[in-house]
Parts: sequence; structure tokens; C-alpha cells
Amino acid sequence: MDTAVVWFRDDLRLTDNPTLVDAVTAADEVVPISVVDPRDHGGTRYGTEKLGAHRAAFRRESLLELRATLRERGGELYVREGRPETVVPDVVDRVDADAVYAQTKPATEELEVENGVRRALPDGVALETRWTHTLYHRSDLPTPCRRMTDTFTPWRKEVERECSVREPLAAPETVPTPELPAGDVPTCSDLGLEAPPEDDRAVLPVEGGESAGKRRLEAYVWEGDHLREYKRTRNGLLGADYSSKFSPWLAAGCLSPRWIHAEVERYEDERVSNEDTYWLVFELLWRDFFQFQFHKYGGQFFTPTGIRDVEKTWNHDRAAFERWASGETGIPFVDANMRELNRTGYMSNRGRQNVASFLTDALEVDWRWGAAYFEERLVDYDVASNWGNWAYQAGVGNDSRDGYFDVLSQAEYYDDDGEYVRTWLPELEALPSASVHRPWTLSEAERAACGVQLGVDYPEPMIDLEERYATLGRR
Ligand SMILES: Cc1cc2nc3c(=O)[nH]c(=O)nc-3n(C[C@H](O)[C@H](O)[C@H](O)COP(=O)(O)OP(=O)(O)OC[C@H]3O[C@@H](n4cnc5c(N)ncnc54)[C@H](O)[C@@H]3O)c2cc1C
Repeated sequence: MDTAVVWFRDDLRLTDNPTLVDAVTAADEVVPISVVDPRDHGGTRYGTEKLGAHRAAFRRESLLELRATLRERGGELYVREGRPETVVPDVVDRVDADAVYAQTKPATEELEVENGVRRALPDGVALETRWTHTLYHRSDLPTPCRRMTDTFTPWRKEVERECSVREPLAAPETVPTPELPAGDVPTCSDLGLEAPPEDDRAVLPVEGGESAGKRRLEAYVWEGDHLREYKRTRNGLLGADYSSKFSPWLAAGCLSPRWIHAEVERYEDERVSNEDTYWLVFELLWRDFFQFQFHKYGGQFFTPTGIRDVEKTWNHDRAAFERWASGETGIPFVDANMRELNRTGYMSNRGRQNVASFLTDALEVDWRWGAAYFEERLVDYDVASNWGNWAYQAGVGNDSRDGYFDVLSQAEYYDDDGEYVRTWLPELEALPSASVHRPWTLSEAERAACGVQLGVDYPEPMIDLEERYATLGRR
């Protein structure tokens, strides 16, 4: 064919991008476009924003880099604002394209947009979609998504036994593109957002784009040699190297999981192969699992009762939610994690599990409010990973988890010297490690000696957690 449009979505990369490779192979010229959809930012029905500054900045950097790498190959990235259902057919019309190539993802809104584009294309112009964001390809699964089990372990075992990961594709060497006005990549302020704050306590400076993602892999896996201890360190809370931090690049599609998998295999060949090196692949399988579950259940994931139809009473106490969101609950481990999220766009997996349990188990606030808040704030937000994990934590998703995280014990176990909490709550700096997670257990005089007056320097706890857990334990 003469011309194909390549509509980039959450696949902002050249390496292992089957959508781009297939388009370049099929057509003499391709027209790479990214569409800034007004529905992707602005308010949500949960009183949160759909897109926050950290992810907006990351996306901008990723698009700028994609544009630069396409230019190196004789191409261009055209950026247009509007609904893809209007913009994509307009571009097709303008360049007289024969087909449109695009990534497909399982989330409801994304699928609706995709179907809208398909319907709006002129007769004879096909929308060629490619499944490109998981480790295992959807078509290679031994059991089709619609019939897959809802429990992770049997699913993982079946996939590992019966399926293999496809080889990553090389980036195309040239991307011949016709000349059109390039269009501007929106800044945070174009989207009505303030630029994200800089904070040197962030786990690492996160920069969008494929090459920054590859540099992160190089630093973590090869230079730092951390993969050999990945499983043992991944529950850490402070610093760049307790876990991979690949999530922002995976979510925007700057890194392909198959490419990461190939690097893990190379590391296993050249350095060491152990349970820790396997564990990174294991975590990528959790990611896959939620993607395929979304393919199976679609919009059911967003209902209060989740995919298992679990009736629970959720409260809609806005003031309690706001205290949680701003890190003002008076429970140091929750507040430290929420403040880290708000300042940096990132929170460790351990932190995410604990703050989610605090909101849903201790406060019984509607879990969807928490998920929506994470959607706004996370730099690595991904619809299936986020809503799937939230539903799981809330006991309405995969696996029949009915327990809760005892945030105080978790804090004392994973932050035993209180270093993490002191990093994000400097007002508690002088408290002794033994009580930094429970400042209310000190006498007023002891706290005063450390310069902490509850209700003045740091909030009174909004809930008696020990008492709450005693009730939950009796459930
Ligand atoms: C309530 C809650 C919300 C979450 N929201 C998101 C989200 O929006 N986006 C997101 O990428 N992850 C989400 N996670 C999963 C996990 O916390 C992050 O992927 C992880 O902390 C990112 O850090 P990392 O890249 O260093 O992870 P690592 O521990 O190094 O793991 C490697 C990769 O595996 C994947 N992964 C690891 N754990 C999970 C998991 N439980 N579910 C799905 N994928 C996983 C991620 O892509 C991650 O980058 C959420 C977890 C919880 C409990």
C-alpha cells in the first residue's frame, strides 16, 4: 500500500513495536500521529483529576523523544489535539491513507475510542490493531482470556508451562514520512496543570522516553547488578534500587516487557540465574494477569462490587478521604507514603498495599475513590494494574482475599528504624524509633521533648487503629 497512519497510544517506543513495524513493512510511507484527547484530562466522577502533573510531564518527555527518534529515521511524529474519532479520520483523509495501525488495549474507555475510530474511518480503510503491551501475546495463551481462571497462581503455572514469550522486534531503520505540520506536544500548562514539583527525596529522577527507560534498565540490571538480589530487596521503601522502577516506562509503553524479558535472559546467561532474576519475570506476569483479566471483565472492574459481586458497605466520607489523600491521617506510615506519592508520583508496592488497605479496610471508604486518586497521581498509572490491584486490595477483585494489612505492624517491620517515615515526615525526626510509627503512645511531655505536639506539628490519629484491627480480627 502507499500510505498508512500509525496512531501511537500507550506504545511510545520504536523497539519491539509491532504496530509500527507492520505499518512500515506494509506501506511505502507512514504517518505517525499522537492524539491529545481532551477526555484524558479534567475532572472525574470521583472528584479527582484524570491526569496529574507527574504523568503529564512524563508523557510529554516521552512524546518529544519519540519525535526525535522518528526524525533520526527520516520520519516525524505528528501531534494533534481532539478526539481520535475525529482526528484520525481527518488525517487519513488528508494523506489519503489506505490503513490505520494502532495498539489495542483492554480497558473500556480505550476500547470505546478504538471502536469509534473504526466506525469513523472511510469505507475501505481498515483499522489494523495489534496487541503489544504484555509479555505473553494474547493469541498465544493456552486458554483464551474469556475463559481464563480468576486466580493468579494456576493461571501463571499454565502459561509458564504451555506458552513462550515471543522475541522482541528490532526498531525499523527508516520511517519514511510525508511532510505535514508537526504540531506541538502539550506542556503541563497547556493541559491546565502546574509543572510537577522537584523533590530530591524522590526514589529516582524519572524522565520519560524510550532511551531513558533503557538507561534505567542498564543502570539497574547491568551497572548496579541488582537483579541478582531483586526478590530479596523489592519490599524496600527508600532509594532507587530496591525494585526495578520500570513501571512508568512500561505504562507508557516506552519499554516493552518482551524486551525486558530478553535482557533478563541475557543477564541470566552472562551473570547469574537464580530465584531473584526469575522474580522480575514473575512480577511482569502479575502485570499480564491484570491485563488479561480486563480483557475478560471489562467495565465490571469499575463497579463497587467488582468482578466477584461482593456486597460491602462503603462510606463516602469526603473529609476522611481528603485526609488520606493529603497525608494527614495522623498514622505516620500512611502519611509518609501519601506525601511521597503527592510529591513524586511514585510509591513502593508495599506502600500502595498499605495505604489501600488503610482506606478500604480501616476507613471503609469507597475503594474506587482511592483508585481514582492513584489514577490522578501515579506517574506509572496503568488502568488494569491500578484498578485491578485496588479491587484486589478491597476484596472485590481477583482471589478471595478477605484479610487486611495491619499498617502499624507493617510499618514496624518494613521501616524498623523509622528512616522512611522520617524522610517524608521531617516533623517526626526527633521521635525515638520505637515510637515513631505510633507517636500517640508517648506521653505529651515525651513528645514535647521531641518537639512534637499532636494536633499542632503533626495530626492526631484520625482513627484508633489498634481498636479497629481488633474489630476486623473478630470478623
Ligand atoms: C493499590 C495498587 C495500585 C497499583 N497501581 C499500579 C499502576 O497504576 N501501575 C503499575 O504499573 N503498577 C501498579 N501497581 C503495582 C505495583 O505496585 C507497581 O507496579 C510497582 O510498585 C512499580 O514499581 P517497580 O517498577 O519498581 O516494580 P517492580 O517490583 O520492580 O516490578 C516490575 C514490574 O512488574 C510489574 N508489577 C509489579 N507488581 C505488580 C502488580 N502487583 N500488579 C501489576 N503489575 C505489577 C510492574 O510493571 C513493574 O514495573 C499497584 C499496586 C497496588 C497495590
